[in-house]
Formats: sequence, C-alpha cells, structure tokens
Amino acid sequence: MAKIFCVANQKGGVGKTTTTVNLAAGLAKLGQRVLMVDLDPQGNATMGSGIDKRELELSVYDVLLESASIEEARVTSQKLLDAGCSFDVLGANRELAGAEVELVGLERREKRLRAALAEVDAQYDFVLVDCPPSLSLLTLNGLCAAHGVIVPMQCEYFALEGLTDLVNTIKRVHANLNPDLKIIGLLRVMFDPRITLQQQVSEQLKDHFGDKVFDTVIPRNVRLAEAPSYGLPGLAFDASSKGAQAFVAFAQEMVDRIQRWS
Ligand code: ADP
Ligand code: MG
Repeated sequence: MAKIFCVANQKGGVGKTTTTVNLAAGLAKLGQRVLMVDLDPQGNATMGSGIDKRELELSVYDVLLESASIEEARVTSQKLLDAGCSFDVLGANRELAGAEVELVGLERREKRLRAALAEVDAQYDFVLVDCPPSLSLLTLNGLCAAHGVIVPMQCEYFALEGLTDLVNTIKRVHANLNPDLKIIGLLRVMFDPRITLQQQVSEQLKDHFGDKVFDTVIPRNVRLAEAPSYGLPGLAFDASSKGAQAFVAFAQEMVDRIQRWS
C-alpha cells in the first residue's frame, strides 16, 4: 500500500517543488519505490526530475481527464537512474492549466487523481504530489488523494499567517471529501541559523505545533537552488552538499514515521 503525501502551501516560492523532488530522490536512495506527481502547470518538478516537460507525450492532464492511465503516462529519467536515486514521474506542463476549467463540469472532478492512483497503489511505497501555489481544483485533487500533507515553510514573520488558510482548507477536505487527510508535518526549509528571527519563528512553530514539526531542518543551500537548472534533484547533482544530505535525513525521518503508523 502506497502512502500518498501532498506537498502543499498556497504561497509561491516557499520550497514546495524543491521539497517534493528532493524527498522523492532521498526516498529512492533509501530503496523506496516512489512516484512523483506534478500538479503544477509550471512543470518545475517535472523538469527538476530530469524530464523535459515540452516532450511529454502524456501527462497528469491526460490522467485527470481520464484519457490515459498512470501506467501509460508515467516516465523515468535516465539521469536519475545513473545517479542511483530514480523515481517515476507523472509529469505536467502548460496543458494542465486548462484542466481546471475542463474539470469543473465533470463528475467526481476532485477525485480523479485518487481514482487513478488506486490502480498503481501496489507498485509504490510513496507517492509525492507537488501542488501549485493555490487552493485550486488541482490542489483539491491532490488533497483528496492523500493520506497526509507535508507543509514546507520558511521561518519568516508571515509564515504562520498563511498557514491558517491552509489548515482551514485541510479541515474542510477532511470533513467533506477525505476523512484520511491530516497534516503530517511542517518542514522548516531554507533555514539560516544565523538569522535570529528565523530561530525565533522556528521556536514558535515548535511551541505551537509540537511534534507536527519535523525534526529535520532543510538549510538554505545554493546547491539545492542550482540543481534544477541541470534538471536534477540536489541528491543527483551534488550528493555531498548540505542540502542533499538534509533531504536524505528527511527521507529517513519519513520512513521512520510511516513505520510507527503501521
Ligand atoms: P515553490 O514550489 O513553493 O514555488 P520552489 O521549491 O520552486 O518553491 O523554491 C523557490 C526557489 O527557492 C527556487 O529558486 C529554489 O531553487 C529555491 N530554494 C528552495 N529551497 C532552497 C534551499 N533549501 N536553499 C536554497 N534555495 C532554495
Ligand atoms: Mg513549485
């Protein structure tokens, strides 16, 4: 049975895609079978996983509109195979922006991804879904399919404010569409311990959310920012970098948490 996690936060540029791609690579490195689903029409997670979004023959768009299955649409990158951290990718590109409009009139519109994932459930240990920076129908498809939400956040002054909307949305989805859904944890990303404010916000988060805050902290690390321009996760680009190592630690923390669940 695959454990399905959405990486969500309605703010842009907070590290969702970096978290999705690098956690996928970290889990793969630990021997887990991973599917990464890109639900953002920008296709950054697709590109960052070694797949050219412009060359996708089938994508998550086709899966949501039920003109293809995940088995037909998923791809893998040779670059990641070579680096020993390969995972399957259900990619996205600009076409996905249209899905929002096309889905509105259709039945089960928010449960399309959930239904498609059920068919490949036995083939994976983890499914990670990279959500767009909105609480749209696409994000809703992710939340309806998931067992839990991973929320990457920067330890900045307004971080907690944005969280309220997300928490309310998750509560609504939990109540109306997906009783399995819960916040698995808050992941502190782009962390710079030299900045006092970041330390203070980090402490506030722990006071407020307790063990919902992951132990692993992802540091601000330039190698993580450089890797996408080579179409690689940090782990495949520079495995020895602090950023890549932090994501391997985070992957291990996720594996440990899952074991405690079952
Ligand atoms: P989102 O998907 O939430 O929009 P991204 O993952 O694309 O956010 O990250 C936004 C920007 O910050 C990107 O340029 C990315 O490379 C950079 N970034 C993300 N995490 C880190 C990090 N830990 N250290 C340095 N740069 C990072
Ligand atoms: Mg993104």
